[in-house]
Amino acid sequence: MSHVSDFRGPIYRAAIELAPGVPLYVHLVKGADYAVWIDSGVASMFAQLTEVIARAGLRDSDLRFILHTHSHHDHIGSNAQLKDRTGCLIAAHPHYAAWHADFERHYQEFARPFPHLVPDTPALRAEVLDPLDAPRPIDIGIDEGVSFHLGGGVSLTAISLPGHMLAELGWLEASTRTLILGDAITGLDWTLFHSHLSVAGYRGSLAKLRALATSGEVEQVLFAHFAPMSAPRLEDLIQRAERYIDEVEATMLRILAGSEVVSLETLWSETCRRMGRLQEFRALNMVYAHVQDLHERGLLEETEPETYRLR
Ligand SMILES: [Zn+2]
Repeated sequence: MSHVSDFRGPIYRAAIELAPGVPLYVHLVKGADYAVWIDSGVASMFAQLTEVIARAGLRDSDLRFILHTHSHHDHIGSNAQLKDRTGCLIAAHPHYAAWHADFERHYQEFARPFPHLVPDTPALRAEVLDPLDAPRPIDIGIDEGVSFHLGGGVSLTAISLPGHMLAELGWLEASTRTLILGDAITGLDWTLFHSHLSVAGYRGSLAKLRALATSGEVEQVLFAHFAPMSAPRLEDLIQRAERYIDEVEATMLRILAGSEVVSLETLWSETCRRMGRLQEFRALNMVYAHVQDLHERGLLEETEPETYRLR
């Protein structure tokens, strides 16, 4: 039986449009002994995931693991359906283990770390919770360096790439020099800020990706929210991401420089207004990450709770 892969080598993909201009790609990697999904997309993708398993010439029981990049709702959304159907195990970085097992906690920690600024509404709950099928605790906690050998020379090795979240992994398939990423490089020109939670972490991960792109270890790069690209094009995207982080920081510094003191709420609303993005919870989390970064670098002080001035 022969099956044509969606990419060079043993990699297949499921795809939907998550929002206008925001695709969501989920990748299946097939070895001689077993197969894995890298993430599981959103709950409504389940039928497509099972079709891809069949298209790859696999039986359900060949799916041994879901290997996660990170634990956001649009990356773990079909976990329960996949696990119940195939018996696969769920492997993820343990930092966000609770987000897999307790969706109320997932909602509150993701969308409402500042509950006084982001009201609990049915619409917000639906946005966060509708992509999720049912809680399934992670089976295996993993971190950088762990390797899965799928058979026939196909292997996946985890690379730590924090920034978008405080813990995220990329997966390097050695036989095809393919790097499979979740959101380690965030959406840069969406209508909302895709968000990052550690500025230093994001900058460090971009530097690490640049080193990988130029090392010869990576030829093609597959993403959750960008079209596939070659290693040289990855370098262009990394440069764009660095400029984007710089622009967020410069915008916030200008807002801070314009007043004696500035509240977190004003930094949030003004950064969104000046950069033309929706004012929603992801932006608030990102702005707070930059506040923490500026504070750690000695550029900003907190004069009273959630109120800041430049030093
Ligand atoms: Zn994400």
